[in-house]
Amino acid sequence: MPGFEIFGDEERKEVNEVLETGVLFRYGFEGARKGRFKALEFEKKLADITGTGFAHLCSSGTAALCTALAACGIGAGDEVIIPGFTFVATFEAVIQAGAVPVFGEIDETLCLNPDRLEDVVSSRTRAVVPVHMCGSMARIDEIKDFCDKKELILLEDACQSLGATYKGKALGSFGLAGCFSFDAVKTVTCGEGGGIITSDPKVYQRCDQFADHGHDHLGGPDRGADDHPIMGTNYRISELNAAVGLAQLKKLDKIVEIQRKNKLAIRDAMADLPGVSFRYVPDPFGDSATFLSFMLPDEKTARQTARNLAENGAPCPYWYDNNWHYYKKWHHLLEMKRSAKLAFELAKDLPDYKNLVLEESDEVMKRTLSMQIMLNWTEADIEQRIRAVQKSIC
Ligand SMILES: *Cc1c(COP(=O)(O)O)cnc(C)c1O
Repeated sequence: MPGFEIFGDEERKEVNEVLETGVLFRYGFEGARKGRFKALEFEKKLADITGTGFAHLCSSGTAALCTALAACGIGAGDEVIIPGFTFVATFEAVIQAGAVPVFGEIDETLCLNPDRLEDVVSSRTRAVVPVHMCGSMARIDEIKDFCDKKELILLEDACQSLGATYKGKALGSFGLAGCFSFDAVKTVTCGEGGGIITSDPKVYQRCDQFADHGHDHLGGPDRGADDHPIMGTNYRISELNAAVGLAQLKKLDKIVEIQRKNKLAIRDAMADLPGVSFRYVPDPFGDSATFLSFMLPDEKTARQTARNLAENGAPCPYWYDNNWHYYKKWHHLLEMKRSAKLAFELAKDLPDYKNLVLEESDEVMKRTLSMQIMLNWTEADIEQRIRAVQKSIC
């Protein structure tokens, strides 16, 4: 998963090109910047790779989600269906929009279960935000069908799944907009950064404006001459960050290729282990292979296996207990702890978060472990992982 494993001369070269000009700002400074627009170049490449017409970079994946929600017109009191297995940023962004996160169940894809959306949809539901967790996909075509039928906005959180596809189409490109993160531990990193992709010129325009104080970017060389058709904020990326990301993005195919090879070697070796099953991946050819997620028969075995794996030098996250990725430990959300009143309290009938129980999600997550797939593993490292897994599962 982490692009930082393969930093090299390419990243240094891109960064130095920015430093040589002294222009760290993505807009303006036409004379000084010598035609270097790293953020713009990154955006073109991202739009190109994902087959969408447009991409816009932000200062983080979280900022990208906030921007995309705003650009899609999601706001106060709107309900947004999200999974209980994701990074906290997904619900943070919904709350930031003044909207209400409503939690749907996941299935063995470890992503939103399309068959359970009907249970949580209401007359206030505006959008569904599936999260393509751990490098692989939700049953995205079925989720899209549901959204189309109900006239809901589909916005994909693909922050963990750059480079993954479903039936040849990039994750993030199925709905009105899709978001990526380029934070320090993601597949492609630029330190801090995020991106939105969309095929809708209007949504793109709103992203471009919202993330830069509403600037329409039509005023020419004088930024002060720009108009501000909507209110926005500052979620801009710097040229330095974009430069790192640009070099990394050029390595994406290579990254995914290595991950797939490493994952396959371990998966094959695990195939006959008793009681082990694997995460359901709707299109195995499109898996970006950042993680190998597998299930044990029950919670007790999963916990014991997690302990064994750690002792044997191959620790694997047990997300069910994770503070940041599973709803059970989100006490701040469940108890609505915050520093100030939030806009969405204006909305009536908030969900009873305190008593939130996602039974089917728990059933899956209790039994699931994920091994992170690294790029720099040698053959010997992979062999060691395989031995550790064989020793740990009994
Ligand atoms: C990393 C991540 C984000 C947020 O990205 P940042 O760049 O860290 O703000 C959002 N959603 C998911 C699923 C993530 O993994």
